[in-house]
Amino acid sequence: MKDSPLLPLTDRTVAIVPVMLPLPTMQAYSYAVPEEVQVQPGSIVQVPLGPRQVAGIVWDSETDDVDPEKLRSITLAFDCPPIAREMRRFLDWVATYTLSPPGMVARMALRAPAAFEPEAPAEGVRLTDRRPERMTSARDRVISLAADGFSWTRSGLARAAGVSVSVVDGLLKQDVFETIQIPPQPVVPYPDPEFRLPDLSPDQQAAADALTAPQDNSAPVFLIDGVTGSGKTEVYFEAVAETIRAGRQVLILLPEIALTSAFLDRFERRFGCKPAEWHSDIAPRMRERVWRQAATGDIRVVAGARSALFLPFDNLGLIVVDEEHDSAYKQEDRVFYNARDMAVVRAHIGRFPTILASATPSIESCVNADHGKYRRIHLPERFGGAALPDLKLIDMRRDPPARGGFLSPPLLDAVGKTVEAGEQALLFLNRRGYAPLTLCRVCGHRFQCPSCSAWLVEHRFRNQLQCHHCGHTEPVPEACPECGTLDHLVACGPGVERIAEEVDRHFPEARTIVLSSDMMGGVRRLRLELEAIEKGEVDIVIGTQLVAKGHNFPMMTLVGIVDADLGLANGDPRAAERTFQLLSQVTGRAGRSGRRSRGLLQTYQPYHPVIQAIVSGDRETFYDREIDERERAKLPPFGRMAALIVSAADRPDAEAHARGLRRAAPAARDIQVLGPAEAPMALIRGRYRYRLLVHGSRQSDLQSFVAKMIEDGPRPRGSVRVQIDIDPQSF
Ligand code: ADP
Ligand code: ZN
Repeated sequence: MKDSPLLPLTDRTVAIVPVMLPLPTMQAYSYAVPEEVQVQPGSIVQVPLGPRQVAGIVWDSETDDVDPEKLRSITLAFDCPPIAREMRRFLDWVATYTLSPPGMVARMALRAPAAFEPEAPAEGVRLTDRRPERMTSARDRVISLAADGFSWTRSGLARAAGVSVSVVDGLLKQDVFETIQIPPQPVVPYPDPEFRLPDLSPDQQAAADALTAPQDNSAPVFLIDGVTGSGKTEVYFEAVAETIRAGRQVLILLPEIALTSAFLDRFERRFGCKPAEWHSDIAPRMRERVWRQAATGDIRVVAGARSALFLPFDNLGLIVVDEEHDSAYKQEDRVFYNARDMAVVRAHIGRFPTILASATPSIESCVNADHGKYRRIHLPERFGGAALPDLKLIDMRRDPPARGGFLSPPLLDAVGKTVEAGEQALLFLNRRGYAPLTLCRVCGHRFQCPSCSAWLVEHRFRNQLQCHHCGHTEPVPEACPECGTLDHLVACGPGVERIAEEVDRHFPEARTIVLSSDMMGGVRRLRLELEAIEKGEVDIVIGTQLVAKGHNFPMMTLVGIVDADLGLANGDPRAAERTFQLLSQVTGRAGRSGRRSRGLLQTYQPYHPVIQAIVSGDRETFYDREIDERERAKLPPFGRMAALIVSAADRPDAEAHARGLRRAAPAARDIQVLGPAEAPMALIRGRYRYRLLVHGSRQSDLQSFVAKMIEDGPRPRGSVRVQIDIDPQSF
């Protein structure tokens, strides 16, 4: 990539540069650089666009031929470090790979507009050597707090002292305090790699040594493949420490950052302070500071959700992707990308290592490790001699639940004994709400979402019917809208709320909680509940996949899987892998502190290979079989896949457009197009959806093929929209 040409133009214009704007455009627009503005590739600038002013990045591409008459000038260059060259190459790469407009990828790197301007120093106060004319207890508190010599903001000091700001202002008037400028503080202090060195087991030490040893490869990818509780976090912390010692920044990606306060605490115990956080739930002001300080290098470690990959790090030296198999790393909106895969690319461009960690690695990562592309690091045992839970199947055909219930006698018995012993039980069911299907007992009317092809789910705690796809809610009607019968609803099948009801009937004394993502009170409440579980303040937890991920519950000794077969039935080739990962993660919550623990899986298919693989602990056979099947069908990673989703407000428009795209497919020996067919969710938010699958050999150039389809196919008109998903989650 070459740097932008500098062309002298008019008296006041020193150059023309391309500027990438955060819009769905395929290329950068040209702007003139006035004399008083200094820019270089990567500079963040403000430019006029129609009647608006927008922020963009000075890009590396050639400038386009623009009529000098129409050329407009950059308004200003922000006082902010330029987006590094590596990062610009990464953004270009992501756009090319995902077939997204580069402007939309650049947009992900410009997510904190106010951060482009440096923070103004805050006004603060500092104690002088004057004493007040008259001492009061309020004044005394303020003065003794401020005696530490640090600077305080007026309101901060008043709040800390528990007095009103007027007390501080009164002291200012008497010159007991003076006003000073407080420079902006770093978001977090620097983590100290020597703060508390761990005491690693020999296995863990060997793993940590392998991660930190000098490599031939400048950008090695490690796959830490270790059972739940083996200490993967402790081990990769050593690589984090080593990178900090080398003066470089670290990014740790987590699938559910909003729920991982426990992770932040652990980081603090090892490094003496928390890492900076980045996810959709942090306050805007904090977002801006994190964005800016990642760019200035003031932040050393960021723990974040997938979007943290687009932070403008100054000097990134390591990316860790924890729970690398997790589907939360896939973004399916605007730019479709998998953050795990893009992390490897980002590291490759920056020539630094990536660490992927999981107890149940994705088939893709396993194959990459088998082929020597990734270095596999095994941690086969739990730390400190803790045993994995003892897993058993409950054959629901032989041990059916009582009428109207979903919990079999052996499972209820085990829950009872666990609670009696003062330990914790988890009942896992990956279904929110009361029941997956609600109908009228008289006429059979089913409640359907008005804008999706989905049934509404009854949420009894809220007395609502909800669509889990678009968020539509309506109150539960008193009478059936079809036949008018009162008190008419029958629930079909269980959701977590219904299991909670059954648990309450059997164990009225037990302290029970339901954990799911739609819980009232949001993330804050969820964090509190998770802490309560950790402290043993809860006897029975009923939860969805929220509880599966990475938590440490020391008192938990029983995990009951209410429906192990759920998820196996859908036709997706990844169903087996996903179910295996989810159930292994959930059962892995038990017995983490060395107590004897067990897992009970309720199933109607005890001989299903996935169910067998989980109970027997014979992981290798399961992976071998899955990998074999993928290889035979040339499915990823042995072949390549792309999905084109065509949606429109009217079904015929969507279908016609999808057919048009199919006709535009070029001839290629190693690529075929399947469909169009109705997408797995045929209607979402009032849009009808058709899907084309493009399946190619491993070496095939899917991107060029798909680009040609789009180019030669019909122009999307009216409400028609086409989304491209390279490496889709389901196919
Ligand atoms: P994983 O991520 O592999 O499931 P963790 O890293 O969460 O495992 O470790 C499981 C538990 O064991 C945690 O509570 C952790 O603090 C503890 N642990 C692991 N290794 C060590 C160690 N070397 N010293 C002390 N505690 C450890
Ligand atoms: Zn809906």
